[in-house]
Amino acid sequence: MKFQLKHIFLLAGALLAFTPVIGVDYFLDKYIKNEAVSRYQESVNTITSRNQSAVSSAIIAMKKVISQSPSLCTPTFVSNVQKQLLANQQLAQIIVENKDRVQYCNGYNSVTEYILTSAELPILDGAETIAIAQVFGTDIPMLRISSQIGQNKIISAFIHLNADLSGILPSSIINNAYLRIGLTNGTKIITSGDVINDVEGEVIHSKVVLSSISNSIPIVTRMTISFDSVRAVFADLYLILTIAALIFAVSFLVFVFYAIRKSNIPSIDLERAIIKGEFHPYYQPVVNLKTGQLLGCEVLVRWVKKDGTVLSPGFFIDLAESSGLAVPMTIKLMEQVREDLSELSKQQPELKIGINLFEGHFRNSIIVDDVKAIFSDSNVLFSQLVFEITERRPLTNQIAVDAVVGGLQALGCKLALDDAGTGYSNLAYMERLGVDIIKIDRVFVNMIGSGTTSVPILDGLISMAFDLDAEIIAEGIETEDQAVYLRARGVVQAQGFLFAPALKKDTYIELAQQMNKPAKTESLQEETSDKIKKKAA
Ligand code: MN
Repeated sequence: MKFQLKHIFLLAGALLAFTPVIGVDYFLDKYIKNEAVSRYQESVNTITSRNQSAVSSAIIAMKKVISQSPSLCTPTFVSNVQKQLLANQQLAQIIVENKDRVQYCNGYNSVTEYILTSAELPILDGAETIAIAQVFGTDIPMLRISSQIGQNKIISAFIHLNADLSGILPSSIINNAYLRIGLTNGTKIITSGDVINDVEGEVIHSKVVLSSISNSIPIVTRMTISFDSVRAVFADLYLILTIAALIFAVSFLVFVFYAIRKSNIPSIDLERAIIKGEFHPYYQPVVNLKTGQLLGCEVLVRWVKKDGTVLSPGFFIDLAESSGLAVPMTIKLMEQVREDLSELSKQQPELKIGINLFEGHFRNSIIVDDVKAIFSDSNVLFSQLVFEITERRPLTNQIAVDAVVGGLQALGCKLALDDAGTGYSNLAYMERLGVDIIKIDRVFVNMIGSGTTSVPILDGLISMAFDLDAEIIAEGIETEDQAVYLRARGVVQAQGFLFAPALKKDTYIELAQQMNKPAKTESLQEETSDKIKKKAA
């Protein structure tokens, strides 16, 4: 029992407590990526809509120039073009040319030389096409929007695309953002910022990727932000949540620690308790219902802990049995009983001492040797000992059972069937075991109320015990009515709170000396018995 249940609970508690601390980063990263997408998507949309309206404005400008001029390339036409160039910031040039790119006129009355670096793509809902144009003498590609006039002539507007994020993104993000504007067929037009491993994909670990497609022109804007810069924006949130998670973890751990300490879990270190001698025999008197004499006792184990708490077997006996510790515990108890009752046994060698055995004692006959070793050469006689067989667990090894029962009886000890009528015991079994005494379980005694005239099952048990020539001890007697009923049925031996609970050694010895003094009168006996009960309570 070195590694106890409480350690498992403590470990589980610790893991549970620190889960939020470990989880903060993971969940916050996920949260922040989502948050960044919804926060910064607007900026990308803004860039797209700016460029979309620049295209629309250019188309409107060309239409105005045509409608307000008598014919192409007249002085009025050129001056109207110039008016539009002044009015539209992103509009760089309007030219008229033929299909062989021979220019007829433009806004500045000079030839604008350019090449197309992409295919011409149609604009949705319009007669115009767009393409990327590299104008000689400039570094940055422009967008050419063209519309055919008549059979051979083409009017084209050249616009600068807007990739300016200032004012629509925090500068710490702009410095770590890469913006790319391209055609929907993939051709790049312009970019801004440093390339951040610009790979297609939505939100991936080291970066946040946002994109926006215009609904009328074949242009895609995509922005990639390094995740570190996004994280930096939320630094406070990380700190607050990490601190909160730590506070939670520590509080939870303290809570688990105290909960475990308050519960019974930590105390179940049976092995240590046996070594430290924390198990003590208590003695519950067995009395004669007819004479009021003390007949002996049943040894009941109590766990007296360092802090003075006294635990009944109910708290630990299952664990003692299942862990095999019931056997060494019994040896310690018997040694203590030998010391405790040495003097009393010399004075009253007829007093019986009931000792509980467990299923573990019936797997081999070692207990017989232990009993021999402990009680030979002691004041406690074998004839005083009554070994009680409990049947909370079935006894399966019949050969070993016979060896133990036979071995103890050969020493002169008696065998009692404990809790008779419950557990695994059945009528045939009781007979085969060859027990000397049958202890009737308290559940049957409890059936006797005031005015009860018969309890068939109890009456049956009693008459069966008589048939088997066994002695009877009734357990758990709490009322006068029960004592009277049992006495009327011929039951002589009894134990229960009506007489006394399990007593400490000194109290038991005092009781035995008072009750069994030959000279005592009945009234004095009762008086002593009352005194003892008060003491025990
Ligand atoms: Mn018992």
